[in-house]
Amino acid sequence: MTIAVYPGTFDPVTFGHLDIIQRAAHLYDKLIIGVLHNSEKTPLFSVKERVNILTKATEDIANVEVCSFEGLSVDFARNVGAKVIVRGLRLITDFEYELQMAQTNRKLAPDVDTTFLYTSLQYSYLSSTTVKEVARFGGDIREFVPGFIVEEIKKKLEAGDKENRK
Ligand code: ADP
Repeated sequence: MTIAVYPGTFDPVTFGHLDIIQRAAHLYDKLIIGVLHNSEKTPLFSVKERVNILTKATEDIANVEVCSFEGLSVDFARNVGAKVIVRGLRLITDFEYELQMAQTNRKLAPDVDTTFLYTSLQYSYLSSTTVKEVARFGGDIREFVPGFIVEEIKKKLEAGDKENRK
């Protein structure tokens, strides 16, 4: 049985991520999505919220699990018995960073390999950062994330605005 992990920030998960998740779930027996607890980033959603959102967004895919992790992706992979790390590639700009990270991970853990899935063309522009930026300025994000996430983002941004006005 081949277990793969898909680590990332997922703040929040977009249709681009979901496309990679669906395709990776076809390739591997089990796909464990790891939501990274990254103290250097200030995310819109907490780790727990991101895990809950991802769990709901992937509830129809039987061989997918969602959890959170801290630290190195290779340690996360080893801890759950995975031999493969899945990453998504969009533009050529992703490539440099992703290749460097994959090669570093290979040094750290030669028993774990990285596979890259190229984005489906219609999602090649899509990132969590863009989605949040468009939402902040009141733009329509329904083409970027599932409906229930549109609502979650709206609630979060409204709560943030209230907090800022205090
Ligand atoms: P990270 O902070 O680890 O880059 P992200 O949540 O932004 O976390 O992304 C997780 C993975 O998903 C990365 O490999 C990223 O390149 C990939 N990814 C993000 N958006 C897309 C997309 N629209 N299509 C394909 N892959 C994507």
